[in-house]
Amino acid sequence: KVRVRFAPSPTGGLHLGGVRTALYNYLFAKKHNGDFVLRVEDTDQNRYVEGAEQYIIDCLTWCGILPDEGPHHEGEYGPYRQSERKDVYRKYAEELVKKGHAYYAFDTPEEIESLREKLKSEGKSNLQYGYHVRNDMRNSLTLPAEETEALLKINFPHVIRIKIEANEFVSFRDMIRGDIQMDTSSVDDKVLIKADGMPTYHLAVVVDDYLMKITHAFRGEEWLPSAPVHVLLWKYLGLQHHMPEWAHFPLILKPDGNGKLSKRDGERLGFPVFAMQWKDPNTGDLLKGFKELGFLPEAFINLLAVLGWNDGTEQEIFTIDELIEKFSIERVHSSGAKFDFEKAKWFNHEWIKKLPVTNYQSSVKKLLQESSVTIDDENKLEKILQLVKDRCTLLTDFVLQSSFFFKFPDTIDITAVKPKWDDKKNQFFVELIRAYEFMNQWQHDELEKEFKEIAAANQIKSGELMLPLRIMLVGGKFGPGVFHIAELLEKEETIKRIEHGLS
Ligand code: GLU
Repeated sequence: KVRVRFAPSPTGGLHLGGVRTALYNYLFAKKHNGDFVLRVEDTDQNRYVEGAEQYIIDCLTWCGILPDEGPHHEGEYGPYRQSERKDVYRKYAEELVKKGHAYYAFDTPEEIESLREKLKSEGKSNLQYGYHVRNDMRNSLTLPAEETEALLKINFPHVIRIKIEANEFVSFRDMIRGDIQMDTSSVDDKVLIKADGMPTYHLAVVVDDYLMKITHAFRGEEWLPSAPVHVLLWKYLGLQHHMPEWAHFPLILKPDGNGKLSKRDGERLGFPVFAMQWKDPNTGDLLKGFKELGFLPEAFINLLAVLGWNDGTEQEIFTIDELIEKFSIERVHSSGAKFDFEKAKWFNHEWIKKLPVTNYQSSVKKLLQESSVTIDDENKLEKILQLVKDRCTLLTDFVLQSSFFFKFPDTIDITAVKPKWDDKKNQFFVELIRAYEFMNQWQHDELEKEFKEIAAANQIKSGELMLPLRIMLVGGKFGPGVFHIAELLEKEETIKRIEHGLS
């Protein structure tokens, strides 16, 4: 059975790349009737951020891609937080020590720092600053066996490191990139178990993928350099037959293609990089998300899906069900995808038009209420949303486009209308009010017909009268057809606004 996992570290807000990784995992799992697991990789206590796990779950919930198993929903393979699995990992590391693929290292942080300094002063390249077994280091490969035992007995602070052989070739297949060959020259002896007893990400990811019976491990391209360590761990543990298939998703790039879109870019480039608003508890910074900006989850999912994948046709708009049906890892691109915010908004506009307004009516109602518009008639709101939706790119646009239906426009300056306002036009509106008062069919084409007849009788082009009417009803030069607006405003309110405009 297909089992995939989304394995974020709870270190902050969930950015575009993270959500897309979750989405691709979700699509693949659903397509193959498999399980989508959420595993919280929280073994690095220094980077742990309060609230980040709940935030991740909230984002996935908003996107409609909630995992089948995870800390919020325990399954057979829990616990799903690595910090709660601490005791599971050590035995695997010790097994590696026994097999000669790992060792205990007793160096203090100061000793490691001075090693780095020394290598640096010798002019070694950055890659070589990493830890490799050397005679001048204190570990179970360089110390006499009795000394190691004695140190372990008194529980001298130590870590367990993997022993990476120099110039070993590691090859594996990536479902997107094909056969990958890497050598170990750029890999140092990574820590597997830290001095506090916690595993590092490298050990935990392999052990948990094994124990949770993960069949496919999909993650961002930034993890490709770590892949050799993971492949070697599978091999050294003798579990290579259980190793999942790999795929590394392309990076999401800045709009100009110049490097990876980072969490800090959003502020600078003027668009959000988080799914939902994220308040950093350490800095107090409040970073807006796509949700708060007025994106629909359907659009957000859609735009992320095609950021690095297509189905081989020109189709761009996909429902989640179509994505599940059409998605394939092999069609995920191997090169980075530029993020284009204008295009992102285009997707949202398409989705606003496509969905029945009842899908987002409550969100819009909330936005309207937040800007002090009182809504007492849901039916009327639905009709209004239906009328103005083509004009809205973001849900927040509905505030401007529909507030005037519920409250009197704040400012109306009819004299600002061009061509010039004069007595003739004034007279026209006086007559229009009288005619409208007698109408018993309050319907947009009737209203238009009446309007045009009176204009003709007064020998004024109706085009010159349309804008004044709009300004009286709306308060500005925007909105849908003016007679449609009048119809929804209803008789009493329409006449009241025209009278007010004339006063
Ligand atoms: N914990 C890693 C992250 O924060 C997961 C990488 C992986 O999926 O192996 O992205």
